[in-house]
Amino acid sequence: MKKTDIKKTALILGGGGFIGGHLAKRLKNEGFWVRVVDIKEEHEFWDHNEICHEYISGDLRDPKIVSLVMFSPIQSSEDDKEKAFDEVYQLAADMGGAGYIFTGDNDANVMHNSALINLNVVFEAAKKSVKRVFYSSSACMYPEYNQLDPDNPNCEESSAYPAKPDSEYGWEKLFSERLFLAFNRNYGLDVRVARFHNIFGPMGTWKDGKEKAPAAMCRKASESKGEMEVWGDGLQTRSFLYIDDCLESVLRFMRQEEFMGPVNIGSEEMVTINQLAQMAIDISEKDIKINNIDGQDFIDKYGFSCPMGVRGRNSDNKLYKEKMGWGPSQPLYEGMELTFKWINQQVNG
Ligand code: NAD
Repeated sequence: MKKTDIKKTALILGGGGFIGGHLAKRLKNEGFWVRVVDIKEEHEFWDHNEICHEYISGDLRDPKIVSLVMFSPIQSSEDDKEKAFDEVYQLAADMGGAGYIFTGDNDANVMHNSALINLNVVFEAAKKSVKRVFYSSSACMYPEYNQLDPDNPNCEESSAYPAKPDSEYGWEKLFSERLFLAFNRNYGLDVRVARFHNIFGPMGTWKDGKEKAPAAMCRKASESKGEMEVWGDGLQTRSFLYIDDCLESVLRFMRQEEFMGPVNIGSEEMVTINQLAQMAIDISEKDIKINNIDGQDFIDKYGFSCPMGVRGRNSDNKLYKEKMGWGPSQPLYEGMELTFKWINQQVNG
């Protein structure tokens, strides 16, 4: 093989989704040879050629599929006789926003499907000697008892134990973090484990119940004729990281040698959910009143309790900044403007 033919290779599992699609596109633009694998037939918003060289539709719960896709079809360096991927990103999961994770109806599927994917992926990654694997955990693994005060949540990495996530989704993430780290200790698999805190931006789910708060607010503001429903009292706090800052954070973390995590990847700009809704309203330039709905009113309307999650959550970026010497900084409002613009186009065709 000529030196000029050699490219670094990346495998994006769950690349048919929001973060994976953006990541695949970025790596392809950087010159990587990129394979995407997802259970979806195709990416919802992108043509395959825009984000990867090869798109495989497959179910990662099936160990045979995972075994097949874990080999790179091309050699990434002259000594890479095994054709092992340079970078593997494990983003595939059965997940969604509060309306999917916190009702309880999807608990068994969320745990079973995501755990199977992670068990298969980590095993095959070690077996095929991939050079480095990124695992996307979630802030949902942090204990509920540190997130009861909306003004002072504690999500420092070291606060993870004693564990008490408020959802089965969070428990599965915690288990899988430990799984990847155990494969590092016992089989020398080079892993990077990050805990994402609410990533948002264009080209993500924006309707039908699996969307997250920023997309839901943008859609509601775009569709509204004067009122906008916000679940809960609107005083619960969160932070939201724009997709470009997320990718930059992931790649800087992935491409340093020393530190494998777990580490938070999120924004430290904490807002209440009503403030987030108001941002979407301001950006829409419409006159819209926020209508908070919870308690019995919510149950009467939807038939289940309002799925709100913890009272307060914010990313704590001290560890990331200490290890990486850099941290994400884009203001939430700017990301919301870009997201609203895209969702407004989807709503209005
Ligand atoms: P997403 O739902 O858009 O992407 C996940 C992808 O996994 C989907 O395209 C889905 O089809 C795919 N998938 C699910 N089951 C599969 C299976 N059996 N086989 C193959 N593919 C399968 O989610 P996202 O927002 O891009 O999140 C990516 C990862 O980051 C997930 O692991 C998620 O838990 C984690 N995370 C995301 C956020 C966030 O705010 N977006 C926050 C915390 C953690």
